[in-house]
Amino acid sequence: MDNLIDEKKIFRGKIKVPYKHTAGAYVERFITEIGKNKRIMGVKCPKCSKVFVPPRMICVECFEKMEEWIEVGNQGTVVGFTTIAHSTPVMPLEPPYSYAIIRLDGADTDIVHIINIGDPKQLKVGMQVKAVFKEKPRKRILDIEYFRPI
Ligand SMILES: [Zn+2]
Repeated sequence: MDNLIDEKKIFRGKIKVPYKHTAGAYVERFITEIGKNKRIMGVKCPKCSKVFVPPRMICVECFEKMEEWIEVGNQGTVVGFTTIAHSTPVMPLEPPYSYAIIRLDGADTDIVHIINIGDPKQLKVGMQVKAVFKEKPRKRILDIEYFRPI
């Protein structure tokens, strides 16, 4: 009896599920501005004046709706980072490269993006970096191809 309960049957199969996904009005505009105009936009809270990048509809601190769009700098400061040394097929660049937390000039929040630097040992917290935009945008966050040290 115990053997029957322990016995597991596994059926393998695949289900194809077509879907469409909308990024929402704010992310749509954010990505479009990067691709078309090579501008990085945030939204400003009418109450606390914080500028959020990437933009979001509601301030996380005041719960105010944010509708004022502000262009922030396409350069900023490295706040933290990690370096990728091991390669897998899905990586955007050949290692070594780094992922960094970046505070763009004029923003009060941080973004995470790729830093392309010849020698990752040169990367430091506090380093100034600048966005390198993709030649042919594809309406993705990787339309900022990476950031490079200034
Ligand atoms: Zn606020």
